[in-house]
Amino acid sequence: MYDVIVVGARCAGSPLAMLLARRGYRVLVVDRKAFPSDTISTHYIVQAGLARMRDWGLLDKLVSTGVPAVRRQNFSSALRGFAEIDGITETFAPRRTVLDALLIDAARAAGAEVIERFAVSDLIRQDGRVAGVRGKFVDGAEQEFRASFVVGADGRNSTVGNLVDAEYHRVVSASGFFAYNYYDGLDWEFQHRTGNDQQWFGAWPTNDNQHLVTVMRRIDRFTEFRADVEGNFHQVIDQILPAYGEQLRDAGRRAERFRVMRYPDNYYRRSAGPGWALVGDAGYHKDPFTGWGISDALVYAELLADKLHAGLSGEQPIDEAVREYERHRDERTASTFDFTCTISELNVPRLYRAAYRAAGGSELGLTQFFNLVGGGLDADRFFARDNLQALYHAAGTPAGERLFPADDTMAYSRCL
Ligand SMILES: Cc1cc2nc3c(=O)[nH]c(=O)nc-3n(C[C@H](O)[C@H](O)[C@H](O)COP(=O)(O)OP(=O)(O)OC[C@H]3O[C@@H](n4cnc5c(N)ncnc54)[C@H](O)[C@@H]3O)c2cc1C
Repeated sequence: MYDVIVVGARCAGSPLAMLLARRGYRVLVVDRKAFPSDTISTHYIVQAGLARMRDWGLLDKLVSTGVPAVRRQNFSSALRGFAEIDGITETFAPRRTVLDALLIDAARAAGAEVIERFAVSDLIRQDGRVAGVRGKFVDGAEQEFRASFVVGADGRNSTVGNLVDAEYHRVVSASGFFAYNYYDGLDWEFQHRTGNDQQWFGAWPTNDNQHLVTVMRRIDRFTEFRADVEGNFHQVIDQILPAYGEQLRDAGRRAERFRVMRYPDNYYRRSAGPGWALVGDAGYHKDPFTGWGISDALVYAELLADKLHAGLSGEQPIDEAVREYERHRDERTASTFDFTCTISELNVPRLYRAAYRAAGGSELGLTQFFNLVGGGLDADRFFARDNLQALYHAAGTPAGERLFPADDTMAYSRCL
C-alpha cells in the first residue's frame, strides 16, 4: 500500500514523486515508456521553471549535461535582451531525453519506487474514492497497486482524467501546427520571430552542440505544408528573416527526421476529486508558443506536493487541500493562459504591437518585456492601463499611437 501513486513520470510526475518521497512518503511512479525516452515537444524552459529545479538541487545536474546556456533572447520588433528572474541569470533548452531522465533519476534517488513500461488502464475504487490503479506490463502481465491517493501526471488525454470523467473547461481550439528539427552547424542563440502572413520560427541551442529549429503556421496551411515539409520549413524562415534562411541552407546540417504536429487544443480540466488529482498537461494545457508547459508542470507539481503533504500529514482534509491546489493553479495561470491563447493565433493584436514597440524604446520597457517572457511579470500587469502609460511615456510614444486595453481587446474570448 502506497501513500501516493503517480501515473506519468516526466516533467510533472517525477518532481511530484521526488518531493513527496523526500518528505518520507511511500510513493510509486509508473510510466508506460522506458527512460531515457523522447517525446514530441520542443523544450525551452523559462526562468520560473528553472528556479524550481535550482531549489530542488537539480539545476547543477542539468548544467552538467552540457546543455548550452541562453543569456540573450532575440524577439521580433528588435526586442533583444534577457531578464534575471528569481536569481536565474541564464536559461536552457535540454533535450527531453536528458531532462526527463534527470527528473526520473531524482525521483528514484529520493526514494520513490519507479516502474517503467507499465500502462495504467483502470482505477481501483473503494468507498467512493480512488484507491489505486490497474494496468499491464509490456509483456502483458496485469497488476494492481493500491494507494491513499492517485495522481494523473499522464499528459494530454490523461487516462486518469478520462477514468474519473474529469470535465474540461475554458477549452480554446488550437490555432496552429508545428514542425521542428535539430541542426548541426548553427550559432543562432535564441530566436523567437513572428513574420507577416501568420508564420513564426523559433530556435535555441540544445545538447550535443545542436540547435533546435521550429516553425509554426496556422492550421489552415497544414495540408499544404505537409506536401513538402522540408521545403516549406525553409520557406517560412526565408520569408521571416532571409539571412537566417540562407544560413540554414548553407551551414545547417539537419540531424533528424522532421516532427510535424497539429497542436492540440488549450484547456483546463477538473483536477481534484475524492482520492485523485491531475497535474501537468493532464489538468491544464496551452499552446507551446509561450514555452510555458514544462515550467508550469514543475511549478504546480510542487504546489500539489505541498497540498498532498498537508493532507497526508493530517494538517488538513486531503480532498480539501487538493481542491485548493486546483483553485490556486487556475487563478495563478489565468493570465498566462489568456496571453498564450491570444498570441498563438499569430495575429498580434494592435494593442500588443503598440505595447511591444514601446517596450523596445526604454530600459524599463525591455526589462518588463523580458520579465513577461520569463515568468517574472503577468500579462495582466504588463498590459494594465497604468503600466502601459508608463511604458509609452518612457519610450516617448506619440499620443496618437498609444493604445490601451479599452481600445483593443486584450484577453482571449473564443472559448468553446
Ligand atoms: C510541439 C510541442 C512543443 C512544445 N514546446 C515546449 C517548450 O519549448 N517549452 C515548454 O515548456 N513546453 C513545451 N511544450 C509543452 C510540454 O511538452 C508539456 O507541457 C510537458 O511535456 C507536460 O509535461 P507532463 O509531465 O504533464 O506530461 P507529458 O510530458 O506528456 O508526460 C506524460 C507521461 O505520462 C505517461 N503516460 C500517459 N498515459 C499513461 C498511462 N496510461 N500509463 C502510464 N503512463 C502513462 C506518458 O508515457 C508520458 O511519459 C511543447 C509541446 C509540444 C507538443
